Amino acid sequence: MTEERATEDGAAVVAAVEAVAERLEDERDHLTQLDSAIGDADHGGNMARGWAEAADAARDLDDPDAETVAKTVGKTLMAEVGGASGPLFGGSLVFAAGELDGGITPETAVAFAETYLEKVEDRGDARVGDQTMVDALTPAVHTFKKSVEVDDLDPIEALTKAVDAAERGVAFTVPIRARKGRASYLGWRSVGHQDPGATSTLFILEELLAVAADRLGVDAPETDAASPTIPDDDPDGAADDGSAAAPEES
Ligand code: ADP
Ligand code: MG
Repeated sequence: MTEERATEDGAAVVAAVEAVAERLEDERDHLTQLDSAIGDADHGGNMARGWAEAADAARDLDDPDAETVAKTVGKTLMAEVGGASGPLFGGSLVFAAGELDGGITPETAVAFAETYLEKVEDRGDARVGDQTMVDALTPAVHTFKKSVEVDDLDPIEALTKAVDAAERGVAFTVPIRARKGRASYLGWRSVGHQDPGATSTLFILEELLAVAADRLGVDAPETDAASPTIPDDDPDGAADDGSAAAPEES
């Protein structure tokens, strides 16, 4: 990897972190509301504050490469965010950052995503169906890997599918019972609530997609954000009803 390329990738990660910080600030109240229903109402503040600090730390780096930015963000999240989510988001990021030492390619992005998921699972001991961030992350990572490695999709298409998968993962948290984290103390009363950490994970992925599309100079495709169920793919006439079509104007 050339030095120029390394700096370019690093700048892309800084831009992504800034976009995530802005989005999580916008979603602060929304995430707080979700966490007040089944937790202690701090997830909005945790994420907004942690990512704002992370964006500051990333901006302060001098021409960093992607790995350095990711590691710095992870360390900042670990230091700034307490509770369950700081070590889960931050610690896993520090660990997965090493996968980006060769810069950002579809292959390193897949390795990064897989390692990140593994670390979240290790640290939190949660699996799909426990009503946690793992419910959004797992389908997103699996879909991303398959889209890149099996379907040979371009990075933006692969990331779009991953975001769709995360979206459905978030919807999946609603009708199930929490088995991990604070919400699990509620037992059956956790059923019917959307998991805050799965939701913030989705927001982060949406911003990664937007920034990646922007950096690659392609229009960010419409994600199937409104659908809580697996969309009915019609191989002949996809998007006939216009639901998946890009809007005519912005
Ligand atoms: P806390 O639960 O300590 O108040 P936050 O409110 O910031 O921390 O984060 C709560 C989110 O963390 C939950 O919505 C869930 O997605 C995630 N979470 C909690 N415990 C675990 C775990 N053991 N494994 C994975 N994710 C978890
Ligand atoms: Mg909380």
